Amino acid sequence: MVDFSLTDADKKIAALARDEAEIGRTYSRYYDKHEDEIEPKVFAEVKDRPDPLEMLDAIEAETSGRVIVEHLVTMETARGDVRMRRIKKHLGDKIVRYAGNDEQRKLFGNKLLSIALTEPGAGSDPSMIRGSARYDEATDEWILNAEKIYCSAFGASDGALVLVRGPEKNGARPFMGFVIEKGMKGLTELGQVKKMGIRSWDTADFVLQDCRVPSINKIDVDFKKTMIVFNGTRPGVAAMGLAVAGSLLEFTREKLLGKEQVLDYAKGIRARSAIEDRLIRMEALYEATSLTILRCKWLEHVGGTNNGATKVEAAMSKALGGKAARKITQGCMELLGPEGLSEEYLAEKWFRDARIFDIFEGAGDVNRLIIARSLLNYSQKELN
Ligand SMILES: Cc1cc2nc3c(=O)[nH]c(=O)nc-3n(C[C@H](O)[C@H](O)[C@H](O)COP(=O)(O)OP(=O)(O)OC[C@H]3O[C@@H](n4cnc5c(N)ncnc54)[C@H](O)[C@@H]3O)c2cc1C
Repeated sequence: MVDFSLTDADKKIAALARDEAEIGRTYSRYYDKHEDEIEPKVFAEVKDRPDPLEMLDAIEAETSGRVIVEHLVTMETARGDVRMRRIKKHLGDKIVRYAGNDEQRKLFGNKLLSIALTEPGAGSDPSMIRGSARYDEATDEWILNAEKIYCSAFGASDGALVLVRGPEKNGARPFMGFVIEKGMKGLTELGQVKKMGIRSWDTADFVLQDCRVPSINKIDVDFKKTMIVFNGTRPGVAAMGLAVAGSLLEFTREKLLGKEQVLDYAKGIRARSAIEDRLIRMEALYEATSLTILRCKWLEHVGGTNNGATKVEAAMSKALGGKAARKITQGCMELLGPEGLSEEYLAEKWFRDARIFDIFEGAGDVNRLIIARSLLNYSQKELN
């Protein structure tokens, strides 16, 4: 039987992350107003506190497993908006660790590498990627040209894994992945992107102009191999969106019902107020989404992370998570009225923050296409 009850060790680690998130919230407005600043590696307030993920390393055997506990920590951390500790793994270095050879793992596996796919006009549709790579036999180097935008964590990372088009082969230009490192000639950083929401989220643009990279920097990945890593992160991103929505739902409930008032779930629909009814519906959506994500993480825990087996469940989690984040935050703002817009509270910020979770790591529409293709047995060409 599937058992979703958490162990004491799970709860202990999640509680640590929750406590840090509470501290994180005290910085929410600051980083919302100072989006060019990147947070410190570790905030002074948590320097001497146990790190939840290091505790996981120490007591993993007592937990429900790494995948599940990392998910719990992600969700708790996202409640605080601002991370008290920078993450130590990025998507690019994850790809190097699973697709690189021994030498590449040694060279780049411990670096922080973002992932850079998106270009102007090439977001949901990677076939529009125009960035290019050509080989220089004389020097055994690749020469890269690309404009990469919206690169998460690039400000604080050591570089990125970039996906560009290689030389033409059999009438097509295959995708190729390269590690680029900061300081390389031909790489120009364009700084932080101005955003409507999640302004504390390090997001940067950069340009590669005749950037020469040694051939050892070419990682053996194509588009499919690169996308596999998103099966693990899509549910995580959905969980973050849900956590933001949960924060606003909690705030709204407390504002409207007071700290002590509890909802009477047993009351029939005719006996409860419109506000109670809307809160209950939003809570139900929150719970259903949370369980969908947890189920995906459980399947990943049982079946492995990088084999693509949870592709559809990951897409379901992300599609539902992004939608729930939007619906719940919208519903809360409607209930709060003008008070929700006051900067005295974080409600208006959470409302802005929630929108992105239905856009990046595959927009909701795109994830629904992945699900539909699987259910109807269509190829990407047949349904896009
Ligand atoms: C804060 C932030 C961080 C990011 N981090 C990264 C990163 O680290 N690395 C990276 O490579 N990219 C990153 N991105 C880019 C992100 O993945 C893209 O923004 C996303 O893929 C959407 O692409 P787009 O912005 O070009 O929008 P579009 O693809 O133009 O989409 C616009 C709208 O059209 C809809 N749509 C698109 N295609 C279809 C379709 N076939 N059917 C139905 N509807 C469709 C979408 O759902 C959306 O509503 C980030 C973006 C942001 C804002």
